[in-house]
Amino acid sequence: MAGGSAIRGSRVGAGPMGEAERGDAAPRLRVSFWCAKGHETEPSFAADAAIPEVWDCPRCGWPAGQDRDNPPAPPRTEPYKTHLAYVKERRSDGDGDAILSEALERLRPTS
Ligand SMILES: [Zn+2]
Repeated sequence: MAGGSAIRGSRVGAGPMGEAERGDAAPRLRVSFWCAKGHETEPSFAADAAIPEVWDCPRCGWPAGQDRDNPPAPPRTEPYKTHLAYVKERRSDGDGDAILSEALERLRPTS
């Protein structure tokens, strides 16, 4: 077992230097995104890149998602105008009656 030419303390850490073939044919993934308006965009990503959940639609600027049937909600560009209208609508609908009847109840003299 005593080979005279045994390599002692061989350096295993020095790896081969020949793996430099990369960069010119990186595989790319094409991922489809759909916005709430139904626009489809198909950006491509590097295979090792993290694919975002939301992509901005290049046509209307709305966020687009990978689920065609369930695109992300569009940004709220309209101010509280519609919200206010919505609240007013609800007020006059049911709450108004409740408040009114309650007020009448209190006005009713109890003897
Ligand atoms: Zn769009």
